[in-house]
Parts: sequence; structure tokens; C-alpha cells
Amino acid sequence: MFTTTVRRPAARRSSVDTQHLDWCGGGHHCGLGEHRSAPITAKLPGAGTVVITRVQTARGRQYADVHLSVALPDADTAARYQLSALLHHLTRLMSAINRHHARAGR
Ligand SMILES: [Zn+2]
Repeated sequence: MFTTTVRRPAARRSSVDTQHLDWCGGGHHCGLGEHRSAPITAKLPGAGTVVITRVQTARGRQYADVHLSVALPDADTAARYQLSALLHHLTRLMSAINRHHARAGR
């Protein structure tokens, strides 16, 4: 079981030069041509936290900016094993998402 938190976007200021996207957080979330959504935070008690933000670069490419904070065991060997497992599972997850995305035709 985990909990999620969504920060409300900052109040938008209209600007002649800036066209924010519907999902853009506006305000301090974006700048220099990059747009960023309000971050969504999921906390898993005892396990860690994940924060995900949708981003569009100035060139129009979109990606997910993901920050993880994962609790590690105190024992060094166990911590190293967990880090290795984390890297393994994250790379598998990214590959699976890319395969699914490619099959869906983008
Ligand atoms: Zn924006």
C-alpha cells in the first residue's frame, strides 16, 4: 500500500511569449522553454519514495523525470545486493515500457 501526493500547480501567469501546456505546472516549474508538470509523489512506508514529473524540452521531446529514494539495509553486503537488484529491475522496467510504447505505435 502506498500513498500519493499531487502538488497543485502554481497560479499561472499569462505571457505573450510563453504558451504553457495543459499539464504544465507553470510558475517556477518550467522555464527556458522547458515545461514541467506538478510532481506526483508516492510514499511507500518503510520502502521509500518515488517522485515523477512530466517534462517537455524546448525541442518538444517529452520524458518522465523520476526520482527514487529507496531505503537500504544497514549491512553493506545486503545494501549492495539491493542496489544491484534495483538497477536490474529498473532497467527491465524501462525496457518493458519502451517495448510496450513501440507496439502501441507511439
Ligand atoms: Zn510551462
